[in-house]
Amino acid sequence: ILLSATQCFTVDNSQIYITASIGISLFPGDGQSADVLIKNADLAMYRSKERGKNAYTFFTKELDDAVNARFELETELFAAIEEENFEVFYQPKVDATQNTIVGCEALVRWKRADGHYVSPADFISLAEETGLIVGIDRFVLQTVCKDLKDFSPLFVTPHPVAVNISARSIAKEHFVEDFLATVDSNEVSHELIGVEITETILMTDLETSVDSISRLNNYGFRIFLDDFGTGYSSLSYLHSMPISCLKVDKKFVDDIFSQQNRSDKIVTTIIKLASSLDVEVVAEGVETREQIEFLVKNRCNVIQGYFYSRPLPKKAYIEFCRNFNKPAFDN
Ligand code: C2E
Ligand code: CA
Ligand code: CA
Repeated sequence: ILLSATQCFTVDNSQIYITASIGISLFPGDGQSADVLIKNADLAMYRSKERGKNAYTFFTKELDDAVNARFELETELFAAIEEENFEVFYQPKVDATQNTIVGCEALVRWKRADGHYVSPADFISLAEETGLIVGIDRFVLQTVCKDLKDFSPLFVTPHPVAVNISARSIAKEHFVEDFLATVDSNEVSHELIGVEITETILMTDLETSVDSISRLNNYGFRIFLDDFGTGYSSLSYLHSMPISCLKVDKKFVDDIFSQQNRSDKIVTTIIKLASSLDVEVVAEGVETREQIEFLVKNRCNVIQGYFYSRPLPKKAYIEFCRNFNKPAFDN
């Protein structure tokens, strides 16, 4: 069937090429009635589509479980947004040579009814697929604007908080206006809010994204390019977008001392690139003293990672800032 579907058809003098996606269920194991068999074949067909189409997939019990689990998670996530069952945690960014906290990143946590936190790793991609992420991003910005009032008195110099903004949020109509309205209605000064974006935003709608990012920057919000070097990097957009800071991804930091690959070279290259473009650089996922020494020696002074602190709930973060006292590293 797949082969015959890929033959060229002629319709109204136009040549048309199509592919098929097939799902297969078998009687009696996969269902006792036509309804169930067709429903299960349909599930398997979607799996074929996900695998890039032009494929066939047999229905399995695992497939059914995965779809049900996903559906349950989606329903719960939807309710969690309605009920605002989220919390915002903060992770400090520290200048290791000055021994000062220079800002932090806001990271969302989903608090389940049983009191357990669900890690973003387990729900952000679903939230992105379903578009629910837009509501989450909005909630995080709103919370940050409120929490900032309690952070500011702790610091002599401005202490900006960076929020993560998904590609889906940026693509929304009036995104910049809504963002601005939230910040302004909370009377937060723009330099106190940073926006972390990843390279994936450029894959959806390049022109709209670049336009929105530029406007945010014109309003005085600082733009961080997250996970730098892991996506579909193209150096050309570094020109077209007003990036204030590159974030060196944890993956590269993890492997600085690994013999397997050349992460150390990648890290030093990103740092040099940032310096020649005159943008700042932050390393994330830093866990050890040796990593900091390497980074500082190569002129990346701003460090984020478990070495200093895990992301903390607001109260604990305030305590952390009050008591912060760590030795400075030489460069
Ligand atoms: P990210 O933006 O790259 O955030 C950094 C992640 O690395 C965070 O995971 C943080 O807890 C973790 N991390 C930081 N330092 C260390 C370290 O030293 N060791 C280890 N093992 N991990 C470290 P988290 O909080 O689980 O967030 C995962 C991802 O979910 C984030 O990656 C971000 O892409 C997304 N995310 C989190 N909150 C939001 C949000 O409010 N909106 C959007 N759109 N995405 C969010
Ligand atoms: Ca981030
Ligand atoms: Ca990152």
